[in-house]
Amino acid sequence: MSVTHWVKMLPSARGTELESAKFYHRGNTGLQFPLRRPRRWRMSAELRSREKIPVILNPSARSARAGDRVQSIRALSPRVEIHATTGPGDAKKFARELALAGAPVVVAVGGDGTVNEVLNGIAQAGPQTGTALGILPAGTMNVFANDLGLPASRPDECWNLIETGRTRSIDLWLANDEYFAQLAGAGMDASVIAETTWARKKQFGPMSYVMSMLQVLRRGSPVLKVIAPGREPIEGKVLLVGNGVHYGGPFRLFPQASFTDGLLDVIVMKSHSLLNIARLSMFAATGKYSPKHREITYFQTHELDITCDESVPVQVDGELCGTTPVKFRQAPFPLKVVA
Ligand SMILES: [Mg+2]
Repeated sequence: MSVTHWVKMLPSARGTELESAKFYHRGNTGLQFPLRRPRRWRMSAELRSREKIPVILNPSARSARAGDRVQSIRALSPRVEIHATTGPGDAKKFARELALAGAPVVVAVGGDGTVNEVLNGIAQAGPQTGTALGILPAGTMNVFANDLGLPASRPDECWNLIETGRTRSIDLWLANDEYFAQLAGAGMDASVIAETTWARKKQFGPMSYVMSMLQVLRRGSPVLKVIAPGREPIEGKVLLVGNGVHYGGPFRLFPQASFTDGLLDVIVMKSHSLLNIARLSMFAATGKYSPKHREITYFQTHELDITCDESVPVQVDGELCGTTPVKFRQAPFPLKVVA
């Protein structure tokens, strides 16, 4: 054994070696890093090249599969950073904070309701953040995700899209102070949403909305007054508003709608008789609305005011958001969305 080896084995010499090796230089930056945590620093270097992507989800205890859901989202990528909500409003709050902190993209896991909360948070943070909305569809309908052409049944493909960072800008709308991107309504459809409980949705899936609709049809509805610039005011019991083509699942209710035309597509139905619902289904199926139909009116506008003698529920993106009166107008900035 050489003298050098002996010296290294002496306790004092070993101590000196450790002392002097506490810091090491990294590259030619001149910076010193402690050696005590080399593993963590190596990880940190990796993270800098592959930054975390915040993902907002509701791991609601209502579902026994909630834990599985979190695990399956985590398994998508090491870049997933879960922000679990614990109550209503959390998704919006988290999204606003993440956008203000400079996140380039905030991902919403869930249905149209969760997506709406997250886009409201991003929009409230303001356009200067440049934050885009990412979507991992996991709801009953996923209308918005489908309309954007996302592979809604393939979370892995949706995630790949998010990692590529490819975004597009679409029109963003306000119903009073609530932002929305896909659809809105007042009167019958909002009442249907109010009737469709979580338990019913879980048991019957999309059919739950049909059941609620039949329930609402049995009751009467107050008449809404619909005022759009350059048009005679019209009255009706059902008001449906679309930014995207689809409404309530696979129905192409707004065949002329575009995410980027600066216009809302509007349907006003005089009454919610079964005959009118059948007519509406036919118009939607053929993609052609009769411009002079007495019962069902279809038009496009950049602004809309709805009033009613009674307080009538209003919904945006399938979530209740207050009551009439309501003013629909375009937000002063678009929504950046991964698609
Ligand atoms: Mg439009």
